[in-house]
Amino acid sequence: MSMPASKRPSGNVTARRGSPLKLRIELVPKRLWGRNLRSNYGLGKQRWDKFRHKLIESNGARCAICGNTKKKLHGHEVWDYREKKTVGTAVLLRVEIVCIDCHDIHHWARTTKLFQGGRITSERYGLLRKHYRKINRCRQADIDRHFLHSLRIWSRQSKKRWKIDWGDFELPIAEAKATREAWAARNPDHPLIRHSAHTTWTG
Ligand SMILES: [Zn+2]
Repeated sequence: MSMPASKRPSGNVTARRGSPLKLRIELVPKRLWGRNLRSNYGLGKQRWDKFRHKLIESNGARCAICGNTKKKLHGHEVWDYREKKTVGTAVLLRVEIVCIDCHDIHHWARTTKLFQGGRITSERYGLLRKHYRKINRCRQADIDRHFLHSLRIWSRQSKKRWKIDWGDFELPIAEAKATREAWAARNPDHPLIRHSAHTTWTG
């Protein structure tokens, strides 16, 4: 039997029946923004795109969360944030193929910011909220409760210093870096060298 929202422990984000949420809001701590596989801290865009396309093919071109095969598919990095008092280690567990709707919900802070800035329509924002309710079989209020909970975690995690454990990607990243460094050594005056560690907003 599920407890009323007011009696649930604040750290316990579950669907109404008490099972873990199928579609979660997963905010990236601020100091880790841009530290992803797509960036030059990781594989770099070209290798990331190649890897993502292969993964989409091998997964039958369907969303790992809602099963959608019609929508645009993205590669979503699933991280485990292992925290100590002032520091932490972000461990990359796997990359999941998810549809654009599920992905926009994973990064709900970014989605909400885009909506507030007029770059996502209220119709689309409403459809995403509906998608969250449908997949998690929960109520409208649950997404707001989950978002506030995620923001509290994000705020705590954003104050910490992080080390990254790239897991199974350690070796391909080392290879990608070696290739980039060799190229940079051959092209010292290329403008891309000065912008090679560009970041992207992933929260
Ligand atoms: Zn989906």
